[in-house]
Parts: sequence; C-alpha cells; structure tokens
Amino acid sequence: MRSITILGATGSIGQNTLDVVSRHPGDFSVYALTANSQVGAMAELCLTYKPQFAVMGSKKVAGELESALSGKVSTQVLYGEKALIDVSQSNEVDTVMAAIVGSAGLKPTLAAIDAGKTVLLANKEALVMSGQLFIDHADRSGAKILPVDSEHNAIFQCLPKEAQEQVGSMQLSEHGVDYLLLTGSGGPFRDLPVHELDKQTPKAACNHPNWSMGQKISVDSATMLNKGLEYIEARWLFNCSESELKVVIHPQSVIHSMVQFTDGSVLAQMGQPDMRTPIAHTLGYPERLRSGVGGLDFSTLNELTFKQPDYARYPCLKLAIQACWDGQWATTTLNAANEVAVQAFLEGHILFTDIAKVCDYSLQKTESVVADNLDVLAQLDAQSRRQASKWIKEYGVC
Ligand code: NAD
Ligand code: MG
Repeated sequence: MRSITILGATGSIGQNTLDVVSRHPGDFSVYALTANSQVGAMAELCLTYKPQFAVMGSKKVAGELESALSGKVSTQVLYGEKALIDVSQSNEVDTVMAAIVGSAGLKPTLAAIDAGKTVLLANKEALVMSGQLFIDHADRSGAKILPVDSEHNAIFQCLPKEAQEQVGSMQLSEHGVDYLLLTGSGGPFRDLPVHELDKQTPKAACNHPNWSMGQKISVDSATMLNKGLEYIEARWLFNCSESELKVVIHPQSVIHSMVQFTDGSVLAQMGQPDMRTPIAHTLGYPERLRSGVGGLDFSTLNELTFKQPDYARYPCLKLAIQACWDGQWATTTLNAANEVAVQAFLEGHILFTDIAKVCDYSLQKTESVVADNLDVLAQLDAQSRRQASKWIKEYGVC
C-alpha cells in the first residue's frame, strides 16, 4: 500500500489522479489532499477519500472546510505554506503528486524532493522557475522524479531503462538518442488568421480542441507558451542541449512526443488525449496500471499530420526557447511575467496578443544575473511580476 499526498487535489490533474487511485483501492492510501480555495470541491473529496489531512490556502477557507466536514469524517484541516510543506515531507508519505498550478507549487514540490519522495511532477512551473537547483536537490536527496506532463511522460516511456533512472543527469547521446521531438497541438487558434488573434476571448482561449485542462494551462496552450515551458522542462528532465530538442505541431494530439535515435528509428508514445494515462504510468511505474482510458481506435484515426510552429502566430514559444538558453534568470522571469499576464487576460485587462508583449517587456527589463539560490529566484520572480503589472497598468485595456 503506497501512501500519497496530492498537491492541487481539486484541479484537473488532482481529480484525474484521484480517479486513477480510486480504481486501485488496495494499492494506495490518500494521506493528504490540498487545495487553494475551493471548499465545496475539497469537502466532497475529503468525504470520498478520507485523507488524514486537508490543506487549504487560508485560515478562512480552512474554517469553512472544517465546518463542512464536522462530524462526518476525521480529516484534520490545516492551512498555509508550512502545512503544504509538512504534508509533502511527512515520513508517512511515499509519493507526492505535484499538481498545484504555477509558482505556488515550488516550495511544497521542493520539500517533497528534499525529503527523497517519489515526486510525480505535473507542476512544470516549479522546474522552469528553479531548473538546475531543482535537479541538484533531487540528486542530493535521491528523490525520484517521474514526469506527468504528457509530452515528458511520452519521452520518458520511449527512453531506455538506464536513461529513465537518470532523470536530470542523463547524457542522451550515450543512450543512442539524436534528439527529442516535443509535439503540441497548436491550441485552439492554430488555424485562425494571425490578425484575428487580438480579438480572442478567455472563453475561446480555454476551449482546447483536444485536452480538458485548468484555465492557466489552457491559455498557455493557446499562446503555445505551454510548449515553451515544456521545452524548458524537457531541457532539465532530459539534460538536453539545444540541438537535442525540437518542437513540432501535431494537431491530432495522438502522438504525445517522440525520440529520434541515431540509427534512424523514431519511437513515439501514442494514446488518447487523456491525462489519466501519464498519471497512471507514474503511479504504477515500473508496472502498468489500468487508468480508465480506452484503446486507440485506429479505424477512425484518419490522419496524423505535422508542421513547424510559426513564430508570428506563437511569439511566446520563441521567447521561451530563447530564455531557455539565455539562462535561469530568463526562464524565472518569463514564468512570472506569464503568470501575471495570463491572469490579466482572464480578467479582461489585456488582449490575448498582449500576453507575449508583457513577457517580452519583463525579459527586456531584466538584467542577466546568476540565479542559483532560492533568494535570487524569489527576487527575480517578484521583480518580473512588478514589471508585468506596470506594463498592464500602462497599456492594458481597462
Ligand atoms: P487547475 O487550475 O485545474 O488546478 C490547480 C490546483 O492548484 C487546484 O487544486 C488549486 O486549488 C491549486 N492551487 C492554485 N493556486 C494555488 C495556491 N496559490 N496555493 C495552493 N494551491 C493552489 O490546474 P491543472 O490543469 O490541474 O494543472 C496543474 C499543474 O499541472 C500545472 O502546473 C499544469 O501546467 C500542469 N499540467 C496540467 C495538465 C492538464 O491536463 N491539466 C497537463 C500537464 C501538466
Ligand atoms: Mg503537456
């Protein structure tokens, strides 16, 4: 029986994780669930899964959850960052699903890493923000990182076992790998005329053609900054050089990413676009678990198509690839500016096309510094948020 903490349990990844866990009642026990503010959803999860601990974002919502659970279940309700860290590090936990969205996930995810847990990593922003530091912490503690993001999970599955055991430090060329191919659907605006992008609403941006996801990652998919963050994520997980990493648009989202080997072979991982597959893969690894996802019906698969990303349509992807090789200061800055910009777009303060402008502005205003400790990363993050907010105040639509 493995004991699991799910950070971000009320989110899209959190709920899919619980769906898979509930299919294997003898294999997992839920130690802790966490959420920011969704009391109703969290109350339901606590009543169903009966975790020892539930962690909320503030005292107020923790109080509301406590009232909702009173007399019904013995779950202890906590709140705040220290509690998130405690339930990620507890000796009673083997596995932590890191599925908080955005930079708020960094500290609890690092806490799980430092405690040597098996970390199922969905929270890509944590790795983008901290890069080498994150990998170094895992090296020191012996934590096992298993990639949940479907592309990285696909690549992981295609790599030989010896490489799978060296996440963060593998030398791809030693495993016969020429390069990795990250696939992306191109998002909901893939076929729109570029001049219509500035008219796109949050609702349209969140209407992903293939995947059902949280709001932030849905907007990131529409700008393709999600692929940019994934490019940076892949750079760290698979220790890639620039020539070992490529992005290709694949609208059908059937192939979830590929590995090109030196002998000309390409291995691809395929399946339905359903996150329960990579989640089940990480929960069961190295064994296979039933996930609830059915097989691929090849009789209805008409075509698999591919094309190169167009940077005029996806300026955020270009910014991310450049930031990746500029250094940690740039990826931390980009991640923070994007979080502010996406929130402002969702709230109607900026246009869809302004997201790239906010990110670019913040990167232009930031000087290159060595960013190899948490204090510098926090300073860069805060400074980038201030710069992004300044742009939005000056040029935003309302
Ligand atoms: P979501 O918005 O659906 O859920 C986010 C979760 O984080 C919620 O439980 C929320 O309560 C919690 N949260 C938000 N802000 C918080 C804060 N300040 N403090 C503590 N908790 C907070 O997001 P999601 O789509 O499930 O994505 C989660 C992570 O997984 C993201 O990093 C995303 O990039 C990554 N991811 C998601 C998918 C997907 O299909 N949804 C695929 C790959 C990777
Ligand atoms: Mg992905």
